[in-house]
Amino acid sequence: MPALDGFIGAIGNTPLLRLGKLSAETGCEILGKAEFMNPGGSVKDRAARYIIEDAERRGTLSPGGTVIEGTAGNTGIGLAHICAARGYRCVIVIPETQSQEKMDLLRVLGADVRPVPAAPYKDANNYQKIAGRLAQETDNAIWANQFDNLVNRQAHYETTGPEIWRDTDGRVDAFVCATGTGGTLAGVARSLKERKPEVKTVLADPYGSGLYHFVKSGEIKSEGSSITEGIGSSRVTANLEGTPIDDAVRIDDQTCVTMVYRLLREEGLFVGGSTGINVAAAVQVAREMGPGHTIVTLLCDRGSLYFARLFNSEWLRQRGLHVPQS
Ligand code: PMP
Repeated sequence: MPALDGFIGAIGNTPLLRLGKLSAETGCEILGKAEFMNPGGSVKDRAARYIIEDAERRGTLSPGGTVIEGTAGNTGIGLAHICAARGYRCVIVIPETQSQEKMDLLRVLGADVRPVPAAPYKDANNYQKIAGRLAQETDNAIWANQFDNLVNRQAHYETTGPEIWRDTDGRVDAFVCATGTGGTLAGVARSLKERKPEVKTVLADPYGSGLYHFVKSGEIKSEGSSITEGIGSSRVTANLEGTPIDDAVRIDDQTCVTMVYRLLREEGLFVGGSTGINVAAAVQVAREMGPGHTIVTLLCDRGSLYFARLFNSEWLRQRGLHVPQS
């Protein structure tokens, strides 16, 4: 493999991992795309790269400039790495509810981290809106705006989707994933459906998100809550708009936690909660479709961002959740 162009050059082309036990149990090929192997540790490096390169091309971001974003963490981590590599300042507005590990990492990467109280999207003090206002008030700054900036889904349409197609030799039958901004599902679903219209695209949703009902009935409605971070939504973002989604699966937190620990103990994979939702949903889709199908999902980020929560049995117990017996 020839030398890559630094951090940015190492983004993407992640391997597709066959999950052996789950594949044997379902009679399907359950494949997880190892997005945690991106250099910043998550699927969001792809969007971060496209957002910064697009702003550079359009001339809205220039040397000495500042990148501002409202993020649940992983997009901020990707942006902070790229800003360090390119000489930009990076300001991250993050809900206080996000893990300490993400905030610590963002600070180590040199970002100016601004935790804000969690507020719903309709509130003027929602973290995304604060980030947008801050960018307007700051000289030589851009608002990355991952939720509604369509280069986010373009990243997945041009890279993640074609990589899945190439690495399955076109044998993919279903693609299943959770959404935060919607960029991943929107880009991959379009890319795969263009190549093979019968590919089934399925949204995996935690409780507390309105999208499961949106896919099922057209109405955004949420029930309950979830310990997962970075996924679920109370609105259809510009990125998600118009995405061909065939079905939705809702996964509760205990099912997610159980899957995260199964992946750790049975596959040796140390991943975060959104991956638990994705893989549990992929297994459900495999059972619905029956043996002989190839189901692809994403392994979004690393477990090391969640030591104090998902990997802390006391923290789980306080929320009525338990670590499954091995
Ligand atoms: N998993 C994790 C851990 C994330 O941080 C995110 C993005 N916030 C997602 C999944 C969802 O990705 P997308 O924004 O492309 O929908």
